Amino acid sequence: MFTPIALSELLRFAHHSSAVTQACSCVPKSFAGWEGMPVSLKESQLREVGSLIAGEEEDLTLDEHHPAGTSYWSAEAPIAPHFFPYNRCRIWECVLCSRVFLRYSEAGAYHFEQRIRSLDPVLIVDVAFNGIGRA
Ligand SMILES: [Zn+2]
Repeated sequence: MFTPIALSELLRFAHHSSAVTQACSCVPKSFAGWEGMPVSLKESQLREVGSLIAGEEEDLTLDEHHPAGTSYWSAEAPIAPHFFPYNRCRIWECVLCSRVFLRYSEAGAYHFEQRIRSLDPVLIVDVAFNGIGRA
């Protein structure tokens, strides 16, 4: 079953994360925009605390949400949970500092790449996707 967290819960994680100021090895850089998961960041340092995945992979849109002309890689790109790639993300918390990140696997031609982005409350938008054809 798919149990995506509520927007209010996502915002709560984001506000909590953005208030963390201590230096930590989980943020070798800011991850303001999407980045490949650095090898220096160990899986054991992150624990899953939630998911934005609301359905089977094939039912989730590949459309992105960029009303202000941002792109996938933009540090200012909105975090729209119903749009790609956020609709494929799980939410992970650093066990050392409790910063919170979004992560998903980007499917390449021959391999998957783990991508990571910081969860910034300012960028979270609640926009419905109307094209999801789940009758
Ligand atoms: Zn950390």
